[in-house]
Amino acid sequence: VIRKIEAIVREEHEKANAQEILMPFVQPAEVWRESGRWEKYEQKDKIMLRFKDRHENDYCLQPTSEDVVTALFRDNVQSYRDLPQNWFHIQTKFRDEIRPRFGLMRTREFIMKDAYTFDLTKEDALKSYDVMKQTYINIFTRIGVDFRPVSADNGDMGGDYSHEFQVLAQTGEDELLFDPDSDYAVNVEKYDPATAPKPKEELEQVRGIEVGHIFYLGTTYTQEDAMDVKLQHADGESRPVHMGCYGIGVSRVAAAAIEQNHDENGIIWPEAIAPYTVGIICMRPDDAECLSVAEKVYADLQARGIDVLLDDSKEPAGAKFARMDLIGLPWQCVVGPKGIKAGELEWKYRKTGERQNLPLDKTPL
Ligand code: ATP
Ligand code: MG
Repeated sequence: VIRKIEAIVREEHEKANAQEILMPFVQPAEVWRESGRWEKYEQKDKIMLRFKDRHENDYCLQPTSEDVVTALFRDNVQSYRDLPQNWFHIQTKFRDEIRPRFGLMRTREFIMKDAYTFDLTKEDALKSYDVMKQTYINIFTRIGVDFRPVSADNGDMGGDYSHEFQVLAQTGEDELLFDPDSDYAVNVEKYDPATAPKPKEELEQVRGIEVGHIFYLGTTYTQEDAMDVKLQHADGESRPVHMGCYGIGVSRVAAAAIEQNHDENGIIWPEAIAPYTVGIICMRPDDAECLSVAEKVYADLQARGIDVLLDDSKEPAGAKFARMDLIGLPWQCVVGPKGIKAGELEWKYRKTGERQNLPLDKTPL
């Protein structure tokens, strides 16, 4: 599931002309001191895990990468002609969360895709921001979750403009406000009444799971009193570069998709991120014919590029059916001696529970 989410994220970033890089998981304090965040993180919520190497130098496990990517840009890009730039990586993050909970939703170690844009002017940076916003809409649409972008607070990242991507779910930790009569949509943290179209009570209140967050950072990291990253413009003047940063909680997306797609029997994976598209249940693995038919269906589907799982375990049928429902693959194919005799296989669509018998050489896919 993680690999499938990553593949969608990667493809959509490449369509937006982002380049994949890989930044270190263990990061030197030096760059975090330059941006002023080494102290800031210590004073605030202490989510940064720190330690010393054998030479007594300070290091941390990356909670995010604005500081390192800004240093990387400063060391490698010298001309305004090289802009815009858009770099991303998919890498482990570590945040020493006060309350890790809800399985993969909030873990200390998690997988995040983080992207960073660099532009000459605010105007260009906001264009890059819009491209990334649309990229996020494409990603979550392809993944197949019900989501909304909402205006959000910039918090620790800096800057003054940001959107969260929220998967709608009653169990979500975030409270969101929507105006049914306009496109006003905010995280409740961002509701300041003067700019809202209506009083809070008249707005629609829903809960959500934050799966992505994009920020226009401006010159927070590049200005002189931070990391001082300037480029000379065509007019000969040097000015600080404008940045944006864009995160997706890859592992949290998997958990959020389950939260939205399940029933009393287990998971119902959206097809785009299902670990396998088909699960074959071989009812009698001890029966040579039954096993060979199951293996043939398996090989045929695989040859067509369809991800397929074969359950040839010797457990009772009930346990196998229950487990196949639990893991939530979109299609199930039941191969049993009775069906084989009649020249048929039973196919079940997990989402609706609908069953159909098809000849041995036919599939609903
Ligand atoms: P939260 O408010 O949930 O703590 P955040 O606003 O601190 O998250 P960001 O800095 O915006 O998180 O990180 C980008 C994305 O990484 C988030 O939108 C979320 O999907 C994911 N994420 C953040 N913290 C965690 C975590 N502890 N476990 C899993 N995913 C996380
Ligand atoms: Mg956030």
